[in-house]
Amino acid sequence: MFDNLSDRLGNVFDRLKGRGALSESDVREAMREIRIALLEADVALPVVRRFIDAVTEKAIGQDVLKSVTPGQQVVKIVDDELVDMLGGTEVEGLNFAAKPPVVIMMVGLQGSGKTTTTAKLGKLIRQKHGKKALMASLDVNRPAAQEQLKVLGEQVEVATLPIIEGQQPVDIARRAMESAKLQAADVLLLDTAGRLHVDEALMAEMKAIAGVSTPTEVLLVVDSLTGQDAVNVAQSFTGEVPLTGVVLTRMDGDARGGAALSMRYVTGKPIKFAGTGEKLDAIEAFDPRRVAGRILGMGDVVSLVEKAAESIKQDEAEALAKKMAQGQFDLDDLRMQLKQMQNMGGLGMLAGMLPGMKKAKAAMAASNMDDRVLLHMDAIIGSMTPKERTKPALLNAKRKKRVAAGSGTDVQTVNKVLKMHQEMGRAMKQIKKMGGMKGLGALFG
Ligand code: GDP
Repeated sequence: MFDNLSDRLGNVFDRLKGRGALSESDVREAMREIRIALLEADVALPVVRRFIDAVTEKAIGQDVLKSVTPGQQVVKIVDDELVDMLGGTEVEGLNFAAKPPVVIMMVGLQGSGKTTTTAKLGKLIRQKHGKKALMASLDVNRPAAQEQLKVLGEQVEVATLPIIEGQQPVDIARRAMESAKLQAADVLLLDTAGRLHVDEALMAEMKAIAGVSTPTEVLLVVDSLTGQDAVNVAQSFTGEVPLTGVVLTRMDGDARGGAALSMRYVTGKPIKFAGTGEKLDAIEAFDPRRVAGRILGMGDVVSLVEKAAESIKQDEAEALAKKMAQGQFDLDDLRMQLKQMQNMGGLGMLAGMLPGMKKAKAAMAASNMDDRVLLHMDAIIGSMTPKERTKPALLNAKRKKRVAAGSGTDVQTVNKVLKMHQEMGRAMKQIKKMGGMKGLGALFG
């Protein structure tokens, strides 16, 4: 996500932070570079201007340049302004404050990811909010669109309105309202038809549907990869239907970030969600602070911790915590940790999320350290006897050779694993001294 922009800004910041003192012209030079980086990221010109003006004024106007760490302060100002540009410090969730069924109307162009997003939200509403949802496709233009939602509905275990061939969108919307009431559904998701371009017929249809369903949310789904076009589409919709928010899809492949960075300022509408993949749970509440953190390469520790919480089994984590508290941490535990790292998406995924890890990631790629390393380590530990795993000191030279042969590696790699285990054991004792898991929390700030 935002890799190009992130790299460009990272270079500018490295230069800023590398200096003890900053002059006004250093700042102006950095701002020129940031301006070009933003324009190349396809951020709308007025947004870029406003951003650069705001940062320059703050960086030069206050006592930033005279401070001990001027570079850091400038980065902080850029971070604050980015958060502002992305929508502020609030995370805008779904609004359920209406008499049920709360209607969420999904609008957007064809291929933007509307139907997929409808199903993703259906799942989120059922799982995270514990609400009963009904989904209905009003797309009578695209063949099999209604069928597509039905199939997705089965996958996410959310009911869909039975299809009646030949029924028109407004009538389907009415039937969906009645059905949602009868089923006592809390939420009704209406997946409307798209077009290739914004046109009058589309807008008339959206207005008519909004007229009969009085939606609480009208969410516009746009493809972030289309950059400023996505923002233009949003502007066209804004005048016609009462949009309450935007969902940006394909953020997973968006190296530039222009749509995300321009949307709020140009349209005045909050980005509520980001689609981050084709899978039906690949959706995130859009959190400007986290997104800014990612762009600035400050890592996304919050996402990392959330991901860890999702993929680490509670009982395993508790057992491990107990062992740690007792100062025991054997190779079986190390193996479990390696598995968890793999479950969390491997080294690359972790590296992208940890603060300052962008460079480590590059170094890792350069030294051929990749996820195969995790598999090797797993094979090595697997080739030891259970006794050896709890007491690695038992491994003499002969046994190490056998383990290397058994795991298809060499003695050197076996030694590396043993060393890593020792170091981790030491680190854990350290954490214990700092106050156990609370100490670990302190590490995360
Ligand atoms: P619609 O015509 O707007 O309803 O678009 P669809 O929901 O059918 O989506 C079109 C394609 O985009 C499908 O192949 C989806 O899997 C894919 N897609 C949707 N959202 C995302 C996303 O956030 N990331 C990625 N990588 N693909 C997505």
